[in-house]
Amino acid sequence: MTQVMPILVGGEWRRGGGDVYASRYPADDSVTAELAAATAADADEAIRVADAAWRRSEWRDLAPHARAAILYRIGALIRERAEELAQLQRRDNGKPIGETRALVASAAGTFQFFAAACETLEETLTPPRGDYLTMSIHEPLGVVAAITPWNSPIASEAQKLAPALAAGNAVVVKPAEVTPLAALELGRICGEAGVPKGVVSVLPGKGSIVGDAIVRHPLVKKVSFTGGTTTGRALAAIAAQKLMPVTLELGGKSPTIVFEDADLDHAVNGVLFGIFSSSGESCIAGARLFVHEAIRAEFLERLLAKAAALRVGDPADPRTQMGPLVTAKHRESIERYVQLGRDEGGRVLAGGERPRGGIYDAGWFYKPTILDGLPNSARVCQEEIFGPVLVALAFRDEEELLAQANDSVYGLAAGIWTRDYKRAWRVARRLEAGTVWINTYKQFSISTPFTGIKQSGLGIEKGRLGILQYKHQKSLYWGLNAQPLPWAD
Ligand code: NAD
Repeated sequence: MTQVMPILVGGEWRRGGGDVYASRYPADDSVTAELAAATAADADEAIRVADAAWRRSEWRDLAPHARAAILYRIGALIRERAEELAQLQRRDNGKPIGETRALVASAAGTFQFFAAACETLEETLTPPRGDYLTMSIHEPLGVVAAITPWNSPIASEAQKLAPALAAGNAVVVKPAEVTPLAALELGRICGEAGVPKGVVSVLPGKGSIVGDAIVRHPLVKKVSFTGGTTTGRALAAIAAQKLMPVTLELGGKSPTIVFEDADLDHAVNGVLFGIFSSSGESCIAGARLFVHEAIRAEFLERLLAKAAALRVGDPADPRTQMGPLVTAKHRESIERYVQLGRDEGGRVLAGGERPRGGIYDAGWFYKPTILDGLPNSARVCQEEIFGPVLVALAFRDEEELLAQANDSVYGLAAGIWTRDYKRAWRVARRLEAGTVWINTYKQFSISTPFTGIKQSGLGIEKGRLGILQYKHQKSLYWGLNAQPLPWAD
């Protein structure tokens, strides 16, 4: 039996109060670490300590440039330990090493970016309408919760932790139960970089236990959540009772659209990258492919040839493009969806099964899968599968395309492939999505805001002003009257 790994509760590294469970490597089901889950009591303690640490003001009232210096140091420590963190995260969720290296680099960049945002954030002197000076300033909220999913650990946590700390809050991080390791290391790095004890806690465990306790806790002043729409909605209902602000980054079923004038070399690669990178376990996966009828046959032929050549396999091999899925249970859910697609009358053009033999038999692998012959109203087109499954659809003209592409409860992202910039502008404006990529897909920059509309989310992450999502606005009036107010004379 391996040693039970400690978790970070209120500034102390100690065993969680809950059941012991294992973080398993999805490529062969071996145990990477054993840890005891955090309980509701651990959450209560972490939140009380965080609130006290926050009120002591050694973090909250630090001058922005001094707080920024610590955030820069967190970024630098992530870079120093990049390879170790990338390997740890590969073990945690089975992503190919090339991807986990990119996520670690992105986490470091996120801390650097919000350090800069912190030390350059300006407050406003507003035009006074009387004998006073008026200012609009922003204050930290207190204890903020960051609840994250399993699909992009460390990057997801950094995306919340960095702006929340930059804003002067204390943060309780609740990583997904199955991918706790990178978040715990990030908590350790925060301490090493100089974040005061107790300001950051990392509480792995079940959402229904520790996540729920965090959301309901009266001292938690905001929840920034990334995860499924059903969970997000339940969380928003609790937040409504508390009148607590939330940021919700939720699911998606994004359309990726290839017009007849597209550069097909670019479009084929972009469509494949959009759905099959991260094994499709991506909220922004381009899961619905709309191809203009005039080029549909040629496009699908090229797509299928390249899909068949994708390298599915060992996540430790830098050439691997698709690793295993995160858990056996998740693979079963994807298999059920592919069967549903067949039952709904779809044809499997590629994949639709597990690869067999060698390494494939030990882990949760699934072949890149392409379905066609289904209408956009089919369940496999309407529901988020969160796996390597692309459904190919067709369109004849722009209006029909827009009606289909927007016929979704989700509104996270979309892709357009065309050489016609006027059409790209027109269609991008009318697509109901938080992000639209034009002649590219799944590219990200921390300096550009990210949001979902419809059932894909509420609130904004990233961007320079992302820091304001973790502050509340306050107005100050400074009286300049030479005489008492002419009222009680
Ligand atoms: P999930 O909703 O099951 O879990 C997300 C997190 O919430 C986990 O940490 C989980 O433990 C916690 N949680 C679960 N129930 C909870 C509760 N009752 N109270 C508090 N916390 C609770 O999602 P998942 O399966 O981990 O992740 C996949 C989903 O995340 C997909 O729907 C995907 O689209 C979405 N996602 C969205 C974005 C985005 O930015 N929009 C990014 C990545 C993933």
